[in-house]
Amino acid sequence: MNFPWGHQRRFNSYPDYMRKLFGSRVQKLTLDAGFTCPNRDGTKGVGGCTFCLNDAFNPSYCVSQKPVTRQIKEGISFHEKRYRRASKYLAYFQAFSNTHAPVEHLSELFNEALRVEGVVGLVIGTRPDCMDDKKLALLKELSERCYVVVEYGIESVYNKTLERVNRCHTFEDAAEAIRKTADKGIHVGGHVIFGLPGESRAEMLKSAEILSALPLNSIKFHQLQLFKGTAMEQEYKEKPGDFLLFSEDEYLGFMLEYIELLNPEFVVERIAGETPPRYAVMRPWGPRYDQILVKFEKLLEERNSWQGKRYGE
Ligand code: SF4
Repeated sequence: MNFPWGHQRRFNSYPDYMRKLFGSRVQKLTLDAGFTCPNRDGTKGVGGCTFCLNDAFNPSYCVSQKPVTRQIKEGISFHEKRYRRASKYLAYFQAFSNTHAPVEHLSELFNEALRVEGVVGLVIGTRPDCMDDKKLALLKELSERCYVVVEYGIESVYNKTLERVNRCHTFEDAAEAIRKTADKGIHVGGHVIFGLPGESRAEMLKSAEILSALPLNSIKFHQLQLFKGTAMEQEYKEKPGDFLLFSEDEYLGFMLEYIELLNPEFVVERIAGETPPRYAVMRPWGPRYDQILVKFEKLLEERNSWQGKRYGE
């Protein structure tokens, strides 16, 4: 059976989409360009999101004191030593909010990244409240000469949750930024977390319908990961009953239901996150991400399930 995305996998998978787009393997290189966030630096708040521990995701070559060009070159040699060689790379501005700076500074950084040989595009992780018309004009101009995707942290569609985790923006802010970015013809990604405090399973499932109505190209899902030293670790100690922390099997069952409700046009970049054990409050799930994915695809097969099967019901 061929699905609307043109292959037999039961969801609209990111690696297949990228291969179709670029004709070969493309490697993302994670960068830390020295940004902060408006809910950390006092612009809107302090302390950051209560679940956030950026260090948990930064590879060793990715240090904000190093210029972007150097981080990219070190990233390329890091990946060459470990994995199959890719000839195309995406500069992934990942750490913190990568549009939280004047547009002139953003232009310098993004253009610097694009000058490195092999870099064919930009992935820019940011918050919905760190975008404006000038920044969108810059990104539109860049997107006319290379692949550009803006990944917005949505995290939840519920304002009660966003407030509780100290996001300092609303879901409406996210929806507006996504629409404005898509209107410029720029690829838009979204990031969502399942298991934030106070959200029920039914509320999380309901978010599939709400998100499906947004003009997103791609989406990433993570189960809530509790990191040592975060405000959320403390909150969990005080109110464990407020958290729905999925076991691996529960999560895959949930994701199966979720993905059936999800817009089939969305490219699914991830269905779960991996917690580096040294940062984890609780023992992380056993298998690596690729093994979780194999298990998930087997489950979709067994239950004759696929992305969008119940979309629009
Ligand atoms: S906006 Fe992103 S990087 Fe900033 S504190 Fe929240 S999760 Fe962390």
